Amino acid sequence: MRPVWRIALPVPLPKLFDYLPPADDTGEDPVGCRVRVPFGRSGDRIGVVAATGLADPAAGELKAVVARLDEAPLLHGELLDSLRWLARYTHAPLGEVLATALPGPLRHGEPLPDTRDWCWRLTEAGATALAGMRGGRPRELAGRLAAGPLGEEALAQIEGGRAAARSLEKRGLAERVALPPSREPIAAATGPMLNDEQRAAVDTVLAARDGFAALLLDGVTGSGKTEVYLHAIADCLARGRQALVLVPEIGLTPQTLARFRARLGVPVHALHSGLADGERARVWAAAARGEARVVVGTRSAVFLPLPEPGLIVVDEEHDGSFKQLDGIRYHARDFALVRGKALAVPVVLGSATPSLESLRNAGAGRYAHLRLNRRAGDAKPPQVRVIDVRKRPLEAGLSPELLDAIGRALADRGQVLVFKNRRGYAPVLLCHDCGWSAQCPRCSTELHGTPMTVHAGGRRLQCHHCGARQRVPDACPDCGSLALQPQGAGTERIEDALKARFPDTRILRIDRGSTQRRDAMERLLAEFGDEPGILVGTQMLAKGHDLAGLTLVAVVGIDEGLFSADFRAPEKLAQLLIQVAGRAGRALKPGEVLLQTHHPGHPLLATLLAGGYHAFADAELPLREAAGFPPFAHMAMLRAEARQVEMAEAFLRAARDALRAAPAADAAIEVNGPLPAPMPRRAGYQRAQLLLGSPDRRALHAALDAALPAIHASPESRRVRWSLDIDPVDL
Ligand code: ADP
Ligand code: ZN
Ligand code: ZN
Repeated sequence: MRPVWRIALPVPLPKLFDYLPPADDTGEDPVGCRVRVPFGRSGDRIGVVAATGLADPAAGELKAVVARLDEAPLLHGELLDSLRWLARYTHAPLGEVLATALPGPLRHGEPLPDTRDWCWRLTEAGATALAGMRGGRPRELAGRLAAGPLGEEALAQIEGGRAAARSLEKRGLAERVALPPSREPIAAATGPMLNDEQRAAVDTVLAARDGFAALLLDGVTGSGKTEVYLHAIADCLARGRQALVLVPEIGLTPQTLARFRARLGVPVHALHSGLADGERARVWAAAARGEARVVVGTRSAVFLPLPEPGLIVVDEEHDGSFKQLDGIRYHARDFALVRGKALAVPVVLGSATPSLESLRNAGAGRYAHLRLNRRAGDAKPPQVRVIDVRKRPLEAGLSPELLDAIGRALADRGQVLVFKNRRGYAPVLLCHDCGWSAQCPRCSTELHGTPMTVHAGGRRLQCHHCGARQRVPDACPDCGSLALQPQGAGTERIEDALKARFPDTRILRIDRGSTQRRDAMERLLAEFGDEPGILVGTQMLAKGHDLAGLTLVAVVGIDEGLFSADFRAPEKLAQLLIQVAGRAGRALKPGEVLLQTHHPGHPLLATLLAGGYHAFADAELPLREAAGFPPFAHMAMLRAEARQVEMAEAFLRAARDALRAAPAADAAIEVNGPLPAPMPRRAGYQRAQLLLGSPDRRALHAALDAALPAIHASPESRRVRWSLDIDPVDL
């Protein structure tokens, strides 16, 4: 029988593909190496060898691997094993998981990039010739090189430097050489003295450093969690190990990086979506070679190789951005725990508002629970006050009390943050004469259409679900009236109202409309500085950039969040409120938080105000348990969309039948649906879903394993776009 290589390819088929080894192969074990193979009519593909074996005698003609791209495996050991686990857990093709885990250039077959520092120095001949050289740029450069080698960057700063270097090189007088990255320590700044709570937390982490442990660092905003991470990382570095720090998309600010860099005394690598592909590949290579000792990165950094692992930190572990919402729907926090276990290193999960999942794990004794109850240093907790706006006159949704408080804070030379989680000018455009309102032509919810948001000061309509845009009509399309009125207030309208009320005050609006890119937000906030002024923004402002001058946080328009159908809505709202409130009074000035609502007596607000986040969590967990929701049950969601709703539903019905017929599917599994998606029509597609739940995680996965081959093979599956989401966060 012929030996074959089993290749994981990034195609949506849940299997490996057999190919003959390349004719000229060296015979070295190819598992974990990338290969180029012919695939279908679409030409060559890049895959990873997942296994070797013998050809199935029934298999007909087999094609051969065109080229082996790696001598030694690119993926191996713990990382390859963990990714195999992830493919099983997400029920996704291994090839797609591996493609998700690799930065673009590596996924496309490029070699592992060079991570060395290149520099120029004089050759011996150059040193000898220097004295007799005539003037000019080469002579000038040779003089500088005589004093010591110059890095590529420094050379680029010198006018005509590159040309001069090449001229010297041609004559054999200078050469370009690679230096291995230096492990020389850089001077590190010392931090504040830890307080007793921080000390105890650090001690617990260090005591756990010799194996896997999950530790929940549960500390109020500003309690000094980052200081705890820094001490644990310093210990990890001192033991010659690598540390990986995962942060939310919005949390990886230049401020954060500067703080890590200043304190740790080693280069700190950053990995985030703003980096160019080549740069991401270089960070990957530096981690794989053990050159990167500390990496601070967003979600996808959880896939970095760690040959000398010592510690994994997940900061703001409750943050929604750790869950990937398309493609391979992994949760970076959960996968970090899987890797920590496989690597036998501690994983520290930090948050001021831990997810109910993590709180439950801590309560059940699976995680060590470390508490920081006080703000660090001299900062005081912010004072929260509720403003009851029932029957009050509102201007762009702002009450007179709130406007007065803003005026006072500005007069005291403080900064004010006005938080409203809705961007645009107004959420609805209404005809005052006939009741018509502007709806997106391509989207709708179950009961009614979805309103288009008014933008550009009232001139443009935009759908926040599909991006559709149109001009605001001059007259009502139904009755011809000119009485079209924007209803409600988004950040744009609030900004306008504040400008009119405080004409001499600096006002900066931060939302996805004003600030597409994260670095743009950073730049704007840095320019804004600590001087008095008003920030208006959405949840983009709930974290990230430290706002030291902030003394007043005004939260408006949270009421719709109090009545959402999503069972996670109360948790998300509680986290958002605590995080936004926590932005106030970080520095020496005391902070005040005003919460404007029509429902001052709502139990969620009452509980949060009286007892803080933990009182909320203590009340919410039993509700989740009684309702059979996570973290007391495990869920999976099968989603389908098609031009006709019948097709999506037919596919989901076939899937439901396959699941019910699965031998493992006993009473422990509940299958609900097909149901319309929360947004049943989006961008012209009809969407439906099937929700699976079980108190027993293994039973859920066994049923999926048994049913998925039939689901993939069903004729209905070819007429829809479908996906499976394990542990879905948006139901
Ligand atoms: P968190 O990550 O919990 O929000 P940080 O670690 O960012 O908190 O700390 C908040 C502020 O308090 C920072 O300015 C930090 O320098 C300061 N800080 C932290 N620990 C101490 C301490 N033990 N003594 C004095 N200041 C501290
Ligand atoms: Zn009308
Ligand atoms: Zn739309």
